[in-house]
Amino acid sequence: MDRNAGLYRDLDRILLTKEEIAEKVRELGKQITRDYEGKTPVLVCILKGASVFFADLIREIELPMTLDFMAISSYGSATKTSGVVRILKDLDNDILGKDVIVVEDIVDSGVTLNYLKQILFQRGASSLRIATLLDKPARRKVKDLKVDYMCFDIPDAFVVGYGLDYDQKYRNLPDIGVLSPRIYEK
Ligand code: 5GP
Repeated sequence: MDRNAGLYRDLDRILLTKEEIAEKVRELGKQITRDYEGKTPVLVCILKGASVFFADLIREIELPMTLDFMAISSYGSATKTSGVVRILKDLDNDILGKDVIVVEDIVDSGVTLNYLKQILFQRGASSLRIATLLDKPARRKVKDLKVDYMCFDIPDAFVVGYGLDYDQKYRNLPDIGVLSPRIYEK
């Protein structure tokens, strides 16, 4: 039996398979490689949700780069945004004059990334782009938020896997699936 069978039982359906994800991540890596030719970007991973995507994406980008990590609070264990964004772990290095690419798992209301963009720009990055694995445009509250790189547009459903959690679980699922509402409504 599949070692993850217990976790898969909590899903209503699989939305994106690991093969589909790998193909898109490869394409995105190629695109970033072309766009940043001659540069040494700083890739910023937004912990913890983007960690799996980040690990795969950086290995598809054929450029010199540096890495940094940031943790912010968004949802706690609920499935709706609180609108309150807090920095739990800040970047280790200065980004003044750097070409920064923020790597996020999913853009939902856009509140989190909008806030992050503002604070990172204030620190003097020479350029700042957003790369997200998933986008839920139907739920956007920050209408003018520009997402520069995106792998998949998804419907309005709560998804887990490939780094995304519910109550800190499911991050290790290789695929992305829609979590059954019975899990968070009980
Ligand atoms: P926003 O500020 O755009 O509303 O929220 C972005 C953050 O909310 C994401 O980084 C992620 O942590 C969380 N989030 C939004 N939608 C989902 C979802 O469908 N599944 C999971 N696991 N997290 C989500």
